[in-house]
Amino acid sequence: MEYEAVIGLETHVQLKTKSKMWCGCPNEFGAEPNTNVCPVCLGLPGVLPVANEEALRLTALTGFLLNCTIPRSAKFDRKNYFYPDMPKNYQITQYDQPSTANGYVEFEFDGGISRVRITRAHLEEDVGKNFHFERHSGVDFNRAGVPLMEIVSEPDITSAEMAYAYLNALKDILVYGGVSDCDMEKGMVRCDVNVSVRPQSQQELGAKIEIKNMNSFSGVRRALEYEIPRQIDVVRKGGKLSQETRRWDDIACVTETMRSKEMAHDYRYFPEPDLMPFVPSAEWLEEVRRRVVELPLAKKRRFMTDYQLPATDAETFVKDVPLGEYFETMARKSKNPKAIANWVINNLRAKMAESFTALAELKFKPEHLLELLGLVESGKISSRIAQEVFAEMFASGQSPNDIVQSKGLAQVSDTGAVEKFCDEAIAANPKSAEDFRAGKAAALNFLKGQVMKLSKGKANPNLVGEILERKLR
Ligand code: ADP
Ligand code: MG
Ligand code: ZN
Repeated sequence: MEYEAVIGLETHVQLKTKSKMWCGCPNEFGAEPNTNVCPVCLGLPGVLPVANEEALRLTALTGFLLNCTIPRSAKFDRKNYFYPDMPKNYQITQYDQPSTANGYVEFEFDGGISRVRITRAHLEEDVGKNFHFERHSGVDFNRAGVPLMEIVSEPDITSAEMAYAYLNALKDILVYGGVSDCDMEKGMVRCDVNVSVRPQSQQELGAKIEIKNMNSFSGVRRALEYEIPRQIDVVRKGGKLSQETRRWDDIACVTETMRSKEMAHDYRYFPEPDLMPFVPSAEWLEEVRRRVVELPLAKKRRFMTDYQLPATDAETFVKDVPLGEYFETMARKSKNPKAIANWVINNLRAKMAESFTALAELKFKPEHLLELLGLVESGKISSRIAQEVFAEMFASGQSPNDIVQSKGLAQVSDTGAVEKFCDEAIAANPKSAEDFRAGKAAALNFLKGQVMKLSKGKANPNLVGEILERKLR
């Protein structure tokens, strides 16, 4: 019997706000332990939470970006459990009335477009961080109360590779929207992986195994590459899987049981009495909607159709947003966007990298690059000379026309002058001329090269070819 995997992901994302979710402490990574704390995020008695409006906005914005609906009213609930990194002994989250629900994410996968439905995206708060030393443990509460959004997917994912592609697409969308920096190194994205297997013909879902607290996308992929065959193996051998929570050991590359269903927490959810339900007004939502941006996949497709770029070029501009914008300012004004893309990707980007120059620091204007292209297209300079002009323009900020003029780089298309170079080359290489006449076509290329050398690269190559052939025949 053939088995298939069913995967649903719960992705936690730290929101890009200046302050924490319920207090004014900075939402900042890397500060000295317990310096960004106050009575509210330390859960001291008698304090009251005040919701961070920007966090509410970013959650609604995520709803728009993920094609979700935004319910008329959202509410906050207490999720009760006891753990040293959570001083209040409850986490404020959203239980039955999340800020946004019922959407989907589309992304490129396996040569096509895949769609994963989004169950909900709700707002909650992050917890502190435990540190274990040799003889004692410590808690850093700087992270406690940082706005955290949980995005829950439907069980629409069917492989480790697809989970990986989904997570990357989700991350790109959130970064594009300015919702989160999604910096994995800083723990800004973590996820819980739910996975089960079932016979391919079966509708009903198998027992759900949850792998908790994954902090890298490649880790998710590795965990699934291990867990799916493990589950299939169990059921193939007639065993039975039951609902449990497992842990991924990234060193041993195995998952192991953390707790079974019987040991599951009872969170005793109840409505958070210190916060009113949130009912966004039409104007408030409209203001958020104005922050919606073009999504990465839509942008890639647009770059491919509007500018006839190959997928790899379009992808480069989708990944590097400022470079893409720079390209677009020029592409809009040009009849040959593909040539611009080549220059930007192959020449400009390489020069910027080797000289540690940012786009904002470029000495020349985008119009200058267009001018340079124009010089090549009209045959005024060869593409080899264009490289030289570009280097000069990059270094000095001078316009290409000025550089060509002052350095005398214009291509020689004057027939008389080119003929002189050709005569010289033929006279100096009688053997090659002989070879060509005897039918060796390659000899012409050699002679062409000699003419280019004599002209210091400035002879119009097409003209050189024509004249040489005419002279030799
Ligand atoms: P819980 O209440 O335990 O968090 P949910 O039903 O809310 O469980 O689902 C949590 C996540 O698990 C969702 O992403 C969902 O798509 C996924 N999921 C639910 N059932 C299964 C299953 N049988 N196999 C794989 N994933 C599942
Ligand atoms: Mg869960
Ligand atoms: Zn605080």
